[in-house]
Amino acid sequence: NCAGVADLQKVVDAIAAEMAAVEERGKAADYIPALARVEPSSFGIAVVTADGRRFMAGEAETSFSIQSISKVFMLTLALGKLGDALWRRVGREPSGSAFNSIVQLEFEHGIPRNPFINAGAIVVADAVLERGQPLSVIGELLRFVRFLAEDEAVEIDIEVSGSEADTGFRNLALANYMKAFGNLNNAVHDVLNVYFNQCALALSCRQLAMAGRYLAADGVHPGTGRHVISAARARRITALMLTCGHYDGSGEFAFRVGIPGKSGVGGGILGIVPGKASIAVWSPGLNERGNSLLGSRALERLAEATGWSVFNGG
Ligand code: GLU
Repeated sequence: NCAGVADLQKVVDAIAAEMAAVEERGKAADYIPALARVEPSSFGIAVVTADGRRFMAGEAETSFSIQSISKVFMLTLALGKLGDALWRRVGREPSGSAFNSIVQLEFEHGIPRNPFINAGAIVVADAVLERGQPLSVIGELLRFVRFLAEDEAVEIDIEVSGSEADTGFRNLALANYMKAFGNLNNAVHDVLNVYFNQCALALSCRQLAMAGRYLAADGVHPGTGRHVISAARARRITALMLTCGHYDGSGEFAFRVGIPGKSGVGGGILGIVPGKASIAVWSPGLNERGNSLLGSRALERLAEATGWSVFNGG
């Protein structure tokens, strides 16, 4: 059942056709208007293989709000700047609770469980900010993602970042709570400015799959041959994607799909198959855990068709 790379276009076409026929599509996030008005029947998929070939189907060129998937890129920047010192401030265990959960912070003295829940991502944003200016950090992240995707057209959707700021009371609470524990070095307002803008990065499936390639390639940016991060750190980031990338649905995703992935409430998922491929899927309807319903199903189909589960014996 291990499809050769030559057949991949057929595989993604078949997946897009199957997803178009599914009736139950989940519910798009509606906490801000820009997400609520996205067409729930949208579906796109893009696969970039280690040898640089691209396979796309559905709305692979439509840009969407990557939301929490940005946490992967910000973590990469933070590890590059701080190295392993970052791990004194954020853990590496699955949370087993929702993306915006606050309860564990109390028991764990303001140290978030992992960098992919909101509290963890806010600490990571603080670490990258490191007494700098929010605007310059946002610019740095945007340039980084454009470099990774090899596409200057990647943008931040300012309507989304504005609405995130207008409605982000819970994130404000998380940040204030961690500040009280001494786990934020910058002003809460500045850290959240960075965080809300990173969530508002808008990429298409093609751009996102391109941006993720370094994680499938031992930390090397295929376009330039440069190390974005060390191979060891690329491995660790993908390990965290597998264990923590889907909030309290991470176990189920590993069970069904077996590919390290990071989801966002905009309906995107970035999947990394080490040594083989970087994959992006997008469909805005979410399941009860806040992960893309059709996106998860599409990755399950892709893993079945290609044998790309990391748990495959080979
Ligand atoms: N902007 C969202 C929040 O912070 C991101 C959450 C997500 O993508 O899961 O609430």
